[in-house]
Amino acid sequence: MQDYKLLIDGEERVGGAGHWQDVLNPATGEAIGRVTHATTDDLDDAMNTALRGLTEWRSVTPWQRGAILKKSADILRSRKEDLGLAMTHEQGKPLREAIAEVDRSADFMEWGGEQARRITADGLIGRDIGNRIVIERHPIGVVAAFTPWNFPMALAAKKFAGALGAGCSIICKPAEETPASVLGLVQALLEAGVTPATVGVVFGVPSEVSSYMIPSPQISKITFTGSIPVGKLLAAEAGKVMKPVTMELGGHAPVIVCKDTDPEALADYLVPKKFFNAGQICICPTRFFVEDEVHDRFLDRFVARAKEIRVGDGALAETQMGPLASEKRLQAISGLVEDARARGADILTGGHRVGNSGNFYAPTVLANVPNDAKILNEEPFGPLAPVIRFDDEDEMLRQANGLEYGLSGYLFTNDASRQRRLSDALQVGTVGINDIPTHIPEVPLGGWKESGYGTEGGQSILEPYQKTKFVSQR
Ligand code: NAD
Repeated sequence: MQDYKLLIDGEERVGGAGHWQDVLNPATGEAIGRVTHATTDDLDDAMNTALRGLTEWRSVTPWQRGAILKKSADILRSRKEDLGLAMTHEQGKPLREAIAEVDRSADFMEWGGEQARRITADGLIGRDIGNRIVIERHPIGVVAAFTPWNFPMALAAKKFAGALGAGCSIICKPAEETPASVLGLVQALLEAGVTPATVGVVFGVPSEVSSYMIPSPQISKITFTGSIPVGKLLAAEAGKVMKPVTMELGGHAPVIVCKDTDPEALADYLVPKKFFNAGQICICPTRFFVEDEVHDRFLDRFVARAKEIRVGDGALAETQMGPLASEKRLQAISGLVEDARARGADILTGGHRVGNSGNFYAPTVLANVPNDAKILNEEPFGPLAPVIRFDDEDEMLRQANGLEYGLSGYLFTNDASRQRRLSDALQVGTVGINDIPTHIPEVPLGGWKESGYGTEGGQSILEPYQKTKFVSQR
């Protein structure tokens, strides 16, 4: 049993009200620890400390910040087995996926450090003789970051890498379900030399923490990864006090399988992608549109492969898919399947919980799903794959683009003109052509439509955490 505490000014602290929340292992349902909740006094302390941290961190040059962030990456990599195991215990994913996530988090810290060293100002000659203009990039201020449980370390690492690289201080409120991953990340940052006041971690009732922190004057920037409804709420709160937000929200990615593909080979490729992290990924492939000519062969093979997935405790070497992260997710997934079943969909495999303890749900493939079924309209965020037959490309595209989600979309064809046409038509921030990519630090990830504002990663990883100042000198 582990006590997860607030981290303010490098010191662990129990929240003032002494309120604790159990942290459960999703594979067993048993408590593995408890997390303390912050009071508003604790949050005030965290924010005042971060304001001081902002001044301290700004006196560290970008070159030194780069060295510190890169050192934190080395520390994370040296601990990836232990950090990975803690992540598997709190989140459920197979251990090798958790270890890979620690590696990916290290990649983000390294990238943020490298980009810190490339902060430049733009200079130009003014319109009048003797007028010099400089456009400087300054850290935006104290960042409030709200991070989720599905990739509990990597999704926080993106925010820490951008904010710290830019010279900001940052307070993170991780999902209470997965406290160890962010605490492990911040520990590595502190050991690497980030000034203690610059990085804080708080826990609590999410809505209470966010509605207290967002309007607080110490906070200058809000960044959130999570669901669209919560994103809208936080963006509205930030809008009232005119604070900028970055929103990485949900998706409902179309996967277009065209008739010229090898349907069996493609099903073999797509099944592990679909059920990776039990489907709890914002850019997960979720609506499979398969052209009539290859539909039946694709579906048969997809179902056969989905049946072979070994579901179990992520800590066991043979496990290919772990449990859902929480009991709440189990209820949500069961609800989507029952809704589809009631509307006449065929459940070709899965469609049920596995075992009586833990949050295991069988990899599930659905066919003949009516368009009004919830699963075709709401992000499933779980191990569910609805397969939809199409023969009219325009009609399929209308459906693929017909939702307010716009995070990612995938298409599989070797027909060059079709690749271009479909890629251009998809209204999303990420397209995979014969590929289901993962988010690597080198590329900016962001959603279209209701899937978000702004991007994370890429050459512009620091930009969400910077403000420009135009200085004109005569
Ligand atoms: P949820 O909407 O209750 O919570 C989503 C996340 O937001 C959690 O991490 C939660 O701690 C946080 N949160 C909730 N209310 C908040 C508030 N008022 N202020 C600050 N943070 C708040 O749903 P859930 O069941 O935990 O997660 C499922 C849904 O979340 C999915 O449908 C998916 O859309 C979304 N999600 C998306 C991502 C992503 O990578 N974009 C990650 C995790 C969850």
